Amino acid sequence: MNYDEEEQPEEEGGEEIQASVAELAQAPVPNAIRGIRACKRCGLLKTLDQFINEGCENCPFLDMVDNHERTSMCTTAFYEGHAAVMDPRESWVAKWIRVDNNLPGVYAISVTGQFDRDTEEDLENRGYRWRCKPSA
Ligand SMILES: [Zn+2]
Repeated sequence: MNYDEEEQPEEEGGEEIQASVAELAQAPVPNAIRGIRACKRCGLLKTLDQFINEGCENCPFLDMVDNHERTSMCTTAFYEGHAAVMDPRESWVAKWIRVDNNLPGVYAISVTGQFDRDTEEDLENRGYRWRCKPSA
């Protein structure tokens, strides 16, 4: 009997899995438990420092990088729940919380807050929607 042939490792799908793992490794995730804020537009969760250093990967037009004031304004600590979304286009959770066009990451389930009028107008003009809602 020739066992060698039967024990060939199955390679099918291996590359695909590795590619998605590599993509996941790039996903921005909060690097601390405390001080986490949600992007008011997309609900991405990161620390204030991460938002200041990197901005929001989904919303570069919010101009948060190196701008403490903008970052404070465009993110909020008032959010509820969180969902790690690995494949936004395939995930029903991503569709449910309306982040299916965004990058993989950790997202708030709901975000409470409001943009100032200028930013709202800017987003409207660009045809972007946002997730934060003023508290009732
Ligand atoms: Zn965002």
